[in-house]
Amino acid sequence: MGKITLRNVQKRFGEAVVIPSLDLDIEDGEFVVFVGPSGCGKSTLLRLIAGLEDVSDGQIMIDGRDATEMPPAKRGLAMVFQSYALYPHMTVKKNIAFPLRMAKMEPQEIERRVSNAAKILNLTNYLDRRPGQLSGGQRQRVAIGRAIVREPAAFLFDEPLSNLDAALRVNMRLEITELHQSLETTMIYVTHDQVEAMTMADKIVVLNAGRIEQVGSPLTLYRNPANLFVAGFIGSPK
Ligand code: ADP
Ligand code: MG
Repeated sequence: MGKITLRNVQKRFGEAVVIPSLDLDIEDGEFVVFVGPSGCGKSTLLRLIAGLEDVSDGQIMIDGRDATEMPPAKRGLAMVFQSYALYPHMTVKKNIAFPLRMAKMEPQEIERRVSNAAKILNLTNYLDRRPGQLSGGQRQRVAIGRAIVREPAAFLFDEPLSNLDAALRVNMRLEITELHQSLETTMIYVTHDQVEAMTMADKIVVLNAGRIEQVGSPLTLYRNPANLFVAGFIGSPK
């Protein structure tokens, strides 16, 4: 279950108000994309949801529970980092199993979850390799595998494809979309890339200077942009 609700969420860093006051509803199973220019607060918002940053004010609910003060590990969410966050000295299997071993899960259950994730991600034949012996796309899949095994209520992605080349980016975009269709788990995906937002999202949240300019489906934003900012942003791929 992955319903996430933000109410009057504010974030300040010292004097700087990065997010003045934000309300947002994310439904269970939705693929939501946060899009907006560099520095608009996308990563900060994701980190607030993950619990990697504390809100300055307001409330975050996950699955009907008040998560505002919960430590990250209690929130049941999994952040997918870029593929370079893998441990180079560990095998693929150990990299994927890592969060479960940290949580001291039963070895049999770890085995079951890792082989299940490997199947979903087409990594079954690569479990004994090390990250250095994999392609960029395979490394990215290992990073996703490490999130899948935790069976999270929602996946949080922060520009996961930005260090991949263009062809691979298109490929991984499709793979993540397929993964969402098969798992039916809530996904929140941050990008500054309009094409990624338009092709992947059920719901797009357009951010500008810490405020929401518009929330809607790709088609709604394209057909009925709320203002010139949204029209310009959706209409002009980089
Ligand atoms: P985005 O991910 O959309 O590029 P960020 O969320 O990283 O934007 O940053 C939003 C704003 O918050 C920027 O002005 C950034 O400089 C500021 N910011 C982010 N993290 C910190 C921090 N730890 N301390 C101070 N300012 C920060
Ligand atoms: Mg960012």
